[in-house]
Amino acid sequence: MQDPNEPIKPGSVIGIIGGGQLGRMTAVAAAELGYRVHVFTPEENSPTAQVCEHATVAAYDDQDAIEAFGQNVDVVTFEFENVPAETVRHLSQLAPVRPSWECLAVSQDRVKEKTFCNDLGIETAPWKEVTNPMELSVAMAEIGTPAVLKTTRMGYDGKGQVRIHADTDPNQAWEQLGGGPAILEGFINFELEISVITARRPNGTMASFDVVENRHKDGVLDITIAPADIPQDLADRACAIGQKMADALDLVGLLAVELFVTHDDKGNAHLLVNEMAPRPHNSGHWTQDGCKTSQFEQFVRAVTGVALGTPQRHCDTVMKNLLDADALLWEQQLSDPDNKLHLYGKSEPRTGRKMGHINRLYTKGSQPKC
Ligand code: AMP
Repeated sequence: MQDPNEPIKPGSVIGIIGGGQLGRMTAVAAAELGYRVHVFTPEENSPTAQVCEHATVAAYDDQDAIEAFGQNVDVVTFEFENVPAETVRHLSQLAPVRPSWECLAVSQDRVKEKTFCNDLGIETAPWKEVTNPMELSVAMAEIGTPAVLKTTRMGYDGKGQVRIHADTDPNQAWEQLGGGPAILEGFINFELEISVITARRPNGTMASFDVVENRHKDGVLDITIAPADIPQDLADRACAIGQKMADALDLVGLLAVELFVTHDDKGNAHLLVNEMAPRPHNSGHWTQDGCKTSQFEQFVRAVTGVALGTPQRHCDTVMKNLLDADALLWEQQLSDPDNKLHLYGKSEPRTGRKMGHINRLYTKGSQPKC
């Protein structure tokens, strides 16, 4: 097996598990650096397969297909978290897996993720694990309301969540969630949602992109504003949290951390970690056009163990996601020369489906107050 400090050379094959837009944009960045990409996905004609050399179309628990994939790649990474950790553990016997399956296991499970943060002294919303309606009722009294009930696993883009109020019937809420295990989390009246993306090489070198503000619509990211309009010391604190988490996980690749910004009665700012993702992140798409190195190039550099690029921002940027039919307006979007359009090659628009995004560039400091 590869010496972890030996860089994986251009010409080698990067195996990506998951065939969505994050894999697609990673594959394009990998090709620019001279790497070849083999994607493993259950989806036919996936956004990633459209732009890479090889595609294995098979279920994530197809052991024979996984075995063959592992033998044909030089390094394995993934573009979304909900890959069975067992699949990834098996792959790690065949090729280096970056980030490790242990990182994946923490990010897949809200109980593990929050415990990991709290053990590092990093604040989160108050939370409690609940496994049945009775425990939910006890947690509602303990955490208080309003609160949010979230499935422990497989939640993304606000899915697998139920709002809890003082008069909510725990049995009904449990049924609405579709059963547990779950966590009850205090509802945070945040002023701002921000995120920070950190790249980390096998030798521990790290580089972070600017901290950005994220605004959601119906639980899905709508726009990212780069940089976030927050004091530098707060941005530095967010960055330090991302790096502390990446170091503690001994993560190789990218770590995106989403945080809530709040203020207490004394006016002190608090940063509460909401979620982490050990992969490129939607809130980092702005870096494709606004930074000297994009998150996708940085991801490839980190995973292959070569030197990281400078993450410096050269343009203020607002990224807007294009959901469903928004993407049909591509001609109108392109008619503005300051818009950089990125489409994911998905044929059918479906409700809430991410079809592409636009990065709108501004000279530094001229970004409109959104
Ligand atoms: P998540 O899937 O946990 O990232 O949640 C999706 C979105 O729901 C977040 O980006 C927030 O806008 C909102 N949200 C999640 N948890 C909370 C919370 N505890 N308090 C307030 N808003 C939340």
